[in-house]
Amino acid sequence: MNFNTVDKLSLQNKTVFLRLDLNVPLDGQGNITDDTRIVKALPTLRHILKQTNKIVVASHLGRPKGKPVPSMSLEPVGRKLSELLNLELAFVKDYVQTPVDQLLHQLGKNRIILLENLRFYSQETENDKEFAQVLAKGIDYYVSDAFGALHRAHASVAALAERFPKERRAIGFLVEQELKTLDKLKKGSKAPYTVIIGGSKVSDKVGVLLNLVNHCNHVLIGGAMAYSFLKFQGTRVGTSLVEANVGSLISSIYESAEARKVSIHLPLDHVCAKTMDSTETKVIEGDIPDAYAGFDIGPLTVDAYKKVIFASKTIFWNGPLGVFERPAFRTGTSAIAKAIADHDCYSVAGGGDSIAAINFAKVADKFTHISTGGGASLEYLEGKILPGLKVLHLI
Ligand code: AMP
Repeated sequence: MNFNTVDKLSLQNKTVFLRLDLNVPLDGQGNITDDTRIVKALPTLRHILKQTNKIVVASHLGRPKGKPVPSMSLEPVGRKLSELLNLELAFVKDYVQTPVDQLLHQLGKNRIILLENLRFYSQETENDKEFAQVLAKGIDYYVSDAFGALHRAHASVAALAERFPKERRAIGFLVEQELKTLDKLKKGSKAPYTVIIGGSKVSDKVGVLLNLVNHCNHVLIGGAMAYSFLKFQGTRVGTSLVEANVGSLISSIYESAEARKVSIHLPLDHVCAKTMDSTETKVIEGDIPDAYAGFDIGPLTVDAYKKVIFASKTIFWNGPLGVFERPAFRTGTSAIAKAIADHDCYSVAGGGDSIAAINFAKVADKFTHISTGGGASLEYLEGKILPGLKVLHLI
């Protein structure tokens, strides 16, 4: 890996800007419902704290679209971080009128700085150079451990890093671990290698599918995506969610799969209902009648997919296999999460919804790795150059 890692930097008494991804789900009352991203940021923070307490921590949260939105404040995250690290945080709301360089020198032993949500400023998402200049004031080193934001060309991710000499930019431990895991899926994964893709949009996942069919042996498709594939194959899908104009994308996936003898598996049966709100469900095999839509994979599909999973040595999973938010359509996704968890293999999951489903099934600790960045992990696997990584490359 051609990056400086945080453990290679000499940070004694230096000032460090640490970009994290603390974009955690909140319940609207300021309570954090899943603190995974905060916990995953701790090793890098603890490492830096051994050398210096002059740390400016920054993150985005949600999509406030360039203005302060109280429900997206990082204040609750600050409280949690302070509790986990057992130190005080100076929470800075306005760091543009009064840049933090003054504050940095006043920091006592047990105190670091946390900036309010970067996306409260539109300049953040615009990758604004002047905004980056303000953020860089008084800072010696730039460390990025914000894996989930690396695919965004935003000011704190790209323009800010570029202000520092290459030897003063580094990745943190979380980014290092994410990249190592994903690199293994791109090359060097043990066969049989199975990719499980669900979710709603073919167009969102076609890039990653096209790349991964070059490495894997099986693709298991579920979620609404499956209906676009089934329709393409000539199966009747009733009123199931299908995406328009994706025929050529699907045929390119089949062409690549055929060239490498990769098997693409589609659902054999479906948990159907007339509407998503209905609790009156019906398992339908094969063609779905006009009045029904498929909202989950059925039991025959679960069994067939489990057979493939149990024979696999490597598994990558992204996207739920049904409308798992509704109890009536959760069974398929939960069964697949449990099957992967029960099987001893190299298992990686990515994407917010898959993580929610894994947490729901209480099997997170049984996965080899759960990526903290859905979009970033997909774009990385797709072979795209992530703007936040490009600026950290040593050559
Ligand atoms: P994505 O963001 O593309 O990973 O899609 C996740 C969303 O797809 C979740 O909100 C699921 O409820 C939804 N989804 C999964 N399966 C279906 C389905 N069969 N019909 C409609 N929506 C689905």
